Amino acid sequence: MTEINSVCVFCGSRPGENPLYAELAFEFGALLASENVRLVYGGGTTGLMGKVAEGALSKGGDVTGIIPDFLMTKERLGHSLSTLDEVIVTENMHERKMLMFEKSDAFVALPGGIGTLEELVEQMTWAQLRQHDKPVLIADFDGFWAPLVELIEHMTEENFVGEPYPLNYYRAETAAEILPLLRGHTPREILVEEDIVRTRM
Ligand code: AMP
Repeated sequence: MTEINSVCVFCGSRPGENPLYAELAFEFGALLASENVRLVYGGGTTGLMGKVAEGALSKGGDVTGIIPDFLMTKERLGHSLSTLDEVIVTENMHERKMLMFEKSDAFVALPGGIGTLEELVEQMTWAQLRQHDKPVLIADFDGFWAPLVELIEHMTEENFVGEPYPLNYYRAETAAEILPLLRGHTPREILVEEDIVRTRM
């Protein structure tokens, strides 16, 4: 079991084609708030990023937005960043991603574009290398992530993914399934320097 007090959500800065994505992003934000789980996200007010934050704020939830300085100027301040209870402005993307990692107990990717994919895959990579064992979950709303899951299966069949660094991630189809899956996660040991040296020998 894993105690989940904060969840980092990666998702599109655009709403996408399917209106279901925005509905479920809002619903998931509201669910986090009603379970007293802090939302940590990229601070955006547009697209699904805006929706998940609006959902959390609609139930009086705690929201941390972590946004690099250069993106602040792009913001239209829809729900207004000032309504978030914590806004952290970083110097660059690297600092932003490190802070998002440090402040979160789990990572969830809703539908999104290249930015979302990069953030998701980075956390999968760090977990695969056992640099952390926080749960990573794909919110596969309306089968959005099926092509990625298929690609991962292909990589596994072709023996680029698997032992000694198995890839573990969760997959949910509805907003309601997400938190129970994250809480059910059993952490493995994180590799320390000594183990890494041993696996190389
Ligand atoms: P994408 O999935 O390509 O829309 O990328 C989502 C990611 O894009 C976010 O986590 C941010 O890194 C970045 N991003 C793009 N536009 C914005 C914005 N207006 N505000 C905040 N982050 C943004």
